[in-house]
Amino acid sequence: MEISAGKSVLNGIAIGKIKLYKKKSDEIIRKERNDYQQEFSRFKLAKQTAMDQLKALVDKAAEEFGDENAAIFEVHMMLLDDDDFNESVEEIIRSERVNAEYAISVTCDKICEMFSVMTDEYFRARTVDIKDISERLINILSNNVNMEFVLDEPSIILAEELTPSDTLQIDKNKILGIINRLGSVNSHTAIIARALGIPALLGVDIKDEWDGQLGIIDGSDSMLYINPDREILSAFKEKHKEELSRKELLLKLKGKETVTPSGKRINLFANIGSLTELETAIDNDAEGIGLFRSEFLYMESKNFPSEEEQFKAYRKAAEAMKGKKVIIRTLDLGADKQLDYFDLGKEDNPALGYRAIRICLTQPDIFKTQLRAIYRASVYGNISVMFPMITSLEELYKIKEVISEVKKELRDEGYLYHDVELGIMVETPAAAVISDLLAEEVDFLSIGTNDLTQYTLAVDRQNSKLDDFCNTHHIAILRLIKTVIDNGHKKGCWVGICGELAADLSLTEKFIEMEIDELSVSPLCILSVRERICMADTSII
Ligand code: PEP
Ligand code: MG
Repeated sequence: MEISAGKSVLNGIAIGKIKLYKKKSDEIIRKERNDYQQEFSRFKLAKQTAMDQLKALVDKAAEEFGDENAAIFEVHMMLLDDDDFNESVEEIIRSERVNAEYAISVTCDKICEMFSVMTDEYFRARTVDIKDISERLINILSNNVNMEFVLDEPSIILAEELTPSDTLQIDKNKILGIINRLGSVNSHTAIIARALGIPALLGVDIKDEWDGQLGIIDGSDSMLYINPDREILSAFKEKHKEELSRKELLLKLKGKETVTPSGKRINLFANIGSLTELETAIDNDAEGIGLFRSEFLYMESKNFPSEEEQFKAYRKAAEAMKGKKVIIRTLDLGADKQLDYFDLGKEDNPALGYRAIRICLTQPDIFKTQLRAIYRASVYGNISVMFPMITSLEELYKIKEVISEVKKELRDEGYLYHDVELGIMVETPAAAVISDLLAEEVDFLSIGTNDLTQYTLAVDRQNSKLDDFCNTHHIAILRLIKTVIDNGHKKGCWVGICGELAADLSLTEKFIEMEIDELSVSPLCILSVRERICMADTSII
């Protein structure tokens, strides 16, 4: 038995035969071509074919992976038309008098090298897209000899790096798991694996000889077992069986109400950080979106997303949820969430620094653009808005002033909007302590236990050395939660929890006992939290 470690993108177990996915065109041969005009024509023809293929793939991907992931292939179309890429290929063909395949592969290496030294992980992860379009072109030029990878049986795929196109051409019902040498947790392989619920390990020191052997991916421990011992295999088979039957049992809870045995209804909402997660939330029967982390729109973009771009995303979420609540949290940048195009400056204590609402209140243009988009989208569904990192009443007064200005502007311009519910995230001890005062100004309070824990226990949530000091069940946190719920209720607000603690099944009964109104959890946790609520021990409630 061999054991390896990797970076896991999804909890869950995969057991099956490993199948090596190897591209036949690994080696591109440099050939002399004196007639460079003819090579130009070959290249142009291949480009046109690639464009046609990509157009068809956009539709196929939208059907299989959702619209957001289909956009990967739209990006490929743009890259294929990119001037730098095309000029480099043509220049190499002309100056070196070589075949188009070789010119493409040299250009691909050059661009990937440039991307791979960038500090931004997003750009580093995009090297896979450049490789993908280059491979597509080379395949077309060599008459598609590499495009026939067929799985005869459900298998775990072993690859250097499975590109989005690779993933799409394999029957997804036969992919049990994915093991890649390359790829980051932000790569499209990771995004697609997550969207499809396939356990995947990236960054594994893979060996070709694993091809054909039995493998186990243990997503929760990020471990890989090759040719496992009999005891290990039977232990994982047992775990896998339990996982499957649990999933099936949980599926039976779809469409059921989230109500305790004594009849108390809890709103069970989802936290989402992308539009793919919106689809997963709907699939898992979310009763609303309790936390729409809007910063992903900013992080996925090369510049501040325009009002129109944001409006479209918010409208899409509102429409997809068909009248169920969608709570959009305004921009929560800073600390671990940074943008390449917006320098927040170096800070000694970024978690205590220039972040979230502090940025919005000092950069009114950014804040107003977002609020305009949210209010415009409000007529398309049931949108609410909440503000992160609140510490004082003064901040709320300022927010309300900006909202009044935004509403006036929209009215003057003839836009319609609804008077959306306003809420705050309670994620600083200050906000928890004055939650009675804050509750007078808003409609709801949503407790962000991730930051509330960090600030209450003075434990940096990014520092893994402090894991042992980060007691999320600390009595101080539980008391603050109880205080916030009571204060909110006294002032007529509903109160929810949207931090990770909301999905902690060992606390579900406690939260019910504290009279929580809403729990917002990551989409894949919804059904297990519903199960726990529906089975809560009523003797304590
Ligand atoms: C929180 O702090 O609990 C929270 C939900 O916000 P985030 O994790 O996005 O900081
Ligand atoms: Mg937070």
